[in-house]
Amino acid sequence: MSGYGDLSGKCALITGGGRGIGRAIALEFAAAGANVAINYVGPADEAAETAVECAKFGVKACIVEADVSAAEQVAAMFEQTLAELGRVDILVNNAGITRDGLLLRLADEDYDRVLAVNLRGAFLCMRQAAKLMLKQRSGRIISLSSVVALRGNAGQVNYAASKAGLIGMTKSLARELAGRGVTVNALAPGFIQTAMTDVLPEAAKAKMLATIPAGRMGRPEDVAAAAHFLASDAAAYITGQVLAVDGGMAM
Ligand code: NAP
Repeated sequence: MSGYGDLSGKCALITGGGRGIGRAIALEFAAAGANVAINYVGPADEAAETAVECAKFGVKACIVEADVSAAEQVAAMFEQTLAELGRVDILVNNAGITRDGLLLRLADEDYDRVLAVNLRGAFLCMRQAAKLMLKQRSGRIISLSSVVALRGNAGQVNYAASKAGLIGMTKSLARELAGRGVTVNALAPGFIQTAMTDVLPEAAKAKMLATIPAGRMGRPEDVAAAAHFLASDAAAYITGQVLAVDGGMAM
């Protein structure tokens, strides 16, 4: 754990929490004492394994299946999370996909699907979470944007649009909820070692690596530490912000 602060008694829902960055966030939060609901959409194995690891910290950990782009599944996911954990203090919109291609070759369905999961999914989850957090008069919403939203990336117009959209959504919702004790922020990771980046050709990875001042790819734990900070009491007065976790890529 990075040590930003105690999350004991808090309940966190992490979309796509079974692997990659989401898994690291679930473990980081659990290590800080938070109960965690780990959302997944594919086979349950990795989410279940992550829940077992989280529970070793003595917290409640459950898994919740839902495609975040489907409103009725998102509603059911929140119902299940409330049934298992009792409340939602922290929402992490982490679920995300890429379907890369240069604009002229980008299929309509690849544009639509990336926007549906990355942007609509966050919207649907934020709406459910905001209802609960307004009543509680407290809460934290953290969304995974990307360095690509800030700088653009050839071959990712759909992904970059979704991640830039998340920033506008974050700032707008931050304004709506700031007076009610709820903060809304985004993380903009750079080039982080997960399944999402493992699939890139070696040449593309080397090219990307050359643009990172820190000289290394990020680890999921680097992003999890920043999420922990934004979820903690230490960040109570920070809202509507985009925190880059990118080894200096986007400065
Ligand atoms: P990853 O390893 O590919 O994992 C993606 C996660 O999203 C998985 O847990 C997956 O669930 C979940 N997911 C995908 N579609 C979903 C859907 N329709 N409903 C619910 N969950 C869904 O990705 P990652 O690298 O950890 O990335 C996590 C987030 O950080 C993403 O939003 C990504 O865009 C963002 N990000 C990543 C990087 C990077 O370099 N890796 C950089 C910037 C931003 P299943 O396991 O059930 O399939």
